[in-house]
Amino acid sequence: MKIGFIGLGNMGAPMARNLIAAGHDVTGFDLAATPEGITIASSLAEAADGAEIVITMLPNGEILRRVASDLLPHMSPGSILLDCSTVDVASARTVADQTEAKGIPSLDAPVSGGVGGATTGTLTFMVGGPDEAFATAGPLFDIMGQKAVHCGPSGGGQAAKICNNMILGVTMIATCEAFALADKLGLDRQAMFDVVSTSSGYSWSMNAYCPAPGIGPQSPADNDYQPGFASELMLKDLRLSQQAAADADADTPMGARAAELYAQFVEAEDGAGRDFSAMLPRFEGRSRS
Ligand code: NAD
Repeated sequence: MKIGFIGLGNMGAPMARNLIAAGHDVTGFDLAATPEGITIASSLAEAADGAEIVITMLPNGEILRRVASDLLPHMSPGSILLDCSTVDVASARTVADQTEAKGIPSLDAPVSGGVGGATTGTLTFMVGGPDEAFATAGPLFDIMGQKAVHCGPSGGGQAAKICNNMILGVTMIATCEAFALADKLGLDRQAMFDVVSTSSGYSWSMNAYCPAPGIGPQSPADNDYQPGFASELMLKDLRLSQQAAADADADTPMGARAAELYAQFVEAEDGAGRDFSAMLPRFEGRSRS
């Protein structure tokens, strides 16, 4: 396939390289990055020229909306816009309405799996948009990822992503505060893990990504909390969940509190640049008041 790829940052560049390695004809464009091994166009228009699919991997919804408006006049009718960025649900739906009005179907397809998954081609895609476009993009999801779930019409992929990550943020905080409480009660961390990981308090945060160093499977806690999944990315996703909750009039008190705690951690404490499980040393150093 002839593919345009816009946004060649930490995630976009390895995703584009995997498509090239699989034999696709990829032309990339980025405002700042010029990664090796990818043919770079001098403009958005040139990257979109003749492309059957244009993929975007951009920082946020505002940039996506701007890029999509600039791209649209250069895309051929029948081609597809495949956005893999994590953005707000409203931007995803706005972009879909705009492109579909021009006969260009679009898919919102945010990912989980991080830079590691982008590099090894094992991302999970959560996809919103029309059936036919999902089917056309299927072979590309197979190259860049290990799984693609069709979540319904436009916006469904972004909705799935932020609901999942809201649960993740809340359960990570709960797991960290429980470890800090266990410490103060004199409970051994290994015993705490052995009980909770096989009892009703278990979760991905405890069982697969344990925030306590030296306990459970290998995780960023064992590497001085180098990300992994950085706290500022968790904060971004929690804020998107709260923006969506406000728009949809949904009551999400735990998500709201998790967003507040990660904002405090990233902006006023030492959380920026650390893995999101570094909430554990944060709680360890605190008392009740
Ligand atoms: P990044 O900042 O490394 O890359 C974004 C790229 O977009 C940059 O190279 C930037 O120059 C480029 N860009 C910005 N505006 C542009 C424009 N107008 N035209 C062309 N290029 C433009 O970010 P990333 O880590 O690659 O993340 C990309 C998206 O993936 C984000 O939405 C993020 O939330 C999501 N995501 C990231 C991770 C992760 O672990 N990094 C995991 C899951 C999802």
